[in-house]
Amino acid sequence: MNNNTEKIKMKVCSSCKQEKTLDEFGKRKTNKDGLDYLCKVCKRAEWQKNKDLEKHREQQRIYRLNNQEKIKEYNKQYSKKYKKTENGKLARKMYKHNRRSRDKDLIYTLSKEYWEESLNFFNNSCAYCGKKSNRLQHEHVVPSSKGGHYTKQNIVPACKECNLSKLDNDLFEWYVNYSKYDKKKLEKILKWTNIKFESQTQQLALL
Ligand SMILES: [Zn+2]
Ligand SMILES: [Zn+2]
Repeated sequence: MNNNTEKIKMKVCSSCKQEKTLDEFGKRKTNKDGLDYLCKVCKRAEWQKNKDLEKHREQQRIYRLNNQEKIKEYNKQYSKKYKKTENGKLARKMYKHNRRSRDKDLIYTLSKEYWEESLNFFNNSCAYCGKKSNRLQHEHVVPSSKGGHYTKQNIVPACKECNLSKLDNDLFEWYVNYSKYDKKKLEKILKWTNIKFESQTQQLALL
């Protein structure tokens, strides 16, 4: 018998990754070796952590219960501030814009077929900037606030960015000043929509 080959059984803790003797692990019947994954030190630390977390949550709950008015006021102030940020302003603008479109008694004549036609005409890309996307939005060339209907000719595919920029603006006023203005694209849009020029300025836009 060689006593040197007799090994002291060890196990690696799955938390601290240290190799420890078996008596440093708690029991866990459901495991093959009948021992915990975590050493006793880590187990204790985990237990304490959970207990602290529970205590913290309970404190938060009590705080909320005792300070309902204060929290309400805080939220009110926060949303007031949010409204003044760029994101907040945009969100409000979009909300108003969408509501106006719904409120107007629009004639919904654009069928799926028409939309496909429009997409084909613009090569499945944004009519204003040319970006290809499979999430193009239905964009009113003549905005509904200015009497534009939801008809085949009045709808062009637009990316989210261009749609957000255009909103209720007049096509000419907006597009020629837009960072992504492109004469060829404007011509194409006019071809699709069959919009006639109303002023010389509009014609000049194409020169
Ligand atoms: Zn450990
Ligand atoms: Zn675009």
